[in-house]
Amino acid sequence: MRRLARLLAVTLGLVSVGCVLLAGTGVAGSETASPKSRFAVDSPALRTAQDIARAYWGTDPCGGEIEISWQRRQRHVNAISTWSTTNAEDPYADPGGNSDCTIQLNPRARFDWPKLCTVVVHEYGHLAGHDHDAAPGRLMSAYYTTPLRVCTTGVTGRALRSRTS
Ligand SMILES: [Zn+2]
Repeated sequence: MRRLARLLAVTLGLVSVGCVLLAGTGVAGSETASPKSRFAVDSPALRTAQDIARAYWGTDPCGGEIEISWQRRQRHVNAISTWSTTNAEDPYADPGGNSDCTIQLNPRARFDWPKLCTVVVHEYGHLAGHDHDAAPGRLMSAYYTTPLRVCTTGVTGRALRSRTS
């Protein structure tokens, strides 16, 4: 990816980079409705997930301009985030300069609320300048396994308020 980033930098000045969060262990329960409808863009649940992500990282990446959408990908992909940066050497080094930020959730992956919330916080982490954690089982691990604790208390926003108060 870095070689490609440098190549693009020569011609565009801005480098488009992205990271993929892959499915790890499965989702608890037996959710059957499409996640795209249960967690629609601009739904209270997805907005709450974004609130939790901003509170978790203590920042609003990309100046708050993040385009979130549902985009079909291979089943093992949970989500992809993309952004443009002027730093071709390290796409995570200058998050304050990130632009063209997107988070694409995959409707073919299975989502319950704790997973959706955790995936959104993970992708916000990339946009806030955090690379993958090589260790498994952590928020920024490349494979999702365990939800964040703050994401396990429901979609009412109660978790966010208790965290930020
Ligand atoms: Zn990732």
